[in-house]
Amino acid sequence: MKSKFIKPVAVFLCLLTVCVAFAGCKESDTNGTGSIISSPATEAVVTEPYKDDLSFVPFKEYNLEEDTDVKNIILMIGDGMGENIIENAEIVKGDKLSMRSMPYKCYVTTDSLDGTTDSAASSTAMSCGVKTHNKYIGVDENREAVETITEFAKARGLKTGVVATQIIPHATPAGMVAHVENRNLYNVILKHMVNANVDVMYGGGSEYTDTAKMQKRIEAAGYTYIKTADELYENDLETPVIGAFNWGGMYAGGLPSLTDMTASALELLEGEEGFFLMVEESYIDITEADLDMDGTIKEMQVFDECIDYTLSWAEQHPGTLVIVTADHETGGVIVPEDKKPENVNNDCFTSGGEHTSTNVALFAAGAKAGELFTEDLIDNTDIAKIMRKALNDTYGEAEVKILNEVSQ
Ligand SMILES: [Zn+2]
Repeated sequence: MKSKFIKPVAVFLCLLTVCVAFAGCKESDTNGTGSIISSPATEAVVTEPYKDDLSFVPFKEYNLEEDTDVKNIILMIGDGMGENIIENAEIVKGDKLSMRSMPYKCYVTTDSLDGTTDSAASSTAMSCGVKTHNKYIGVDENREAVETITEFAKARGLKTGVVATQIIPHATPAGMVAHVENRNLYNVILKHMVNANVDVMYGGGSEYTDTAKMQKRIEAAGYTYIKTADELYENDLETPVIGAFNWGGMYAGGLPSLTDMTASALELLEGEEGFFLMVEESYIDITEADLDMDGTIKEMQVFDECIDYTLSWAEQHPGTLVIVTADHETGGVIVPEDKKPENVNNDCFTSGGEHTSTNVALFAAGAKAGELFTEDLIDNTDIAKIMRKALNDTYGEAEVKILNEVSQ
């Protein structure tokens, strides 16, 4: 598939990337937070940045084919993206966000066993289908490992990928793969991710990937390891691949963008075997926790663009189910009474930057979306169950295979 990428403003973006390199290590999400279409083997064709500024992409309608088996699942998570921040972003954009073209919508309850959830328990719920305690990754309340969605997909022969703007072993991608009792054990989580042989892992976090021990592990597992946007755009990548593009995480504005990473992941994962890909815009939560509305809107622009790209890709690749949701709300965001862009400001945050228990929205489009999402209100554990049902219907049952022992 040909990409429609445009030229970067290289110097400006290099400077931005340097700024991001120094700013990106901040962590605020810690408040205890049958008809398979075949295609030839692919190589990535992402050769340039998708977009060189942070303006909103225009709203477009996409028509994804529904009457086909679910071959691929793309789960897109806006960390901390409550429905009101979606509406506020639309006030600033002056139009609908790209997720509004997805024909099915419901609400999702997010609480963990401890009440308001953190990203770890919520990711575990969406990945494994169990309620657990905050800080737990891929384990139930008894600290027993529960099959993750990537393990489930691997057991059925699918390829797997995780893409985030946070560090690769951060809570949300971690919950899709690893089994640990504490989300902050980044080195252990990364070890689990490499052991689990996730085919594509893109994000920040070279702080963890660059250590001599991890480099040995990455090499032994047969991964290509890249660290720069140029290497991502060089277009000769094969799976498995790890791309850690910053020492810490990556705020909006740096390169590669979330869309660049997602475009590369889609090209690499697409093939006869099908895939599961999780994509997270990680910094919506962090900018909300910082009570920084301008920053939050920038992160929403990043996610809106990535969803637009993903829907356009899925429209061209029938058999793809796209799900967009959030792990929880952050910020107690309110929509201003007078819906003007200037009123979307820091006064809209009402929870002191904390996560809340407010239900989040879920949007679905593509293969079997209308059959799979029929309720107005579901629980975050239902997302795991729905994805499993979809993959079982296409690929059949398989034995549960936990790829890593629980680490403490
Ligand atoms: Zn979160």
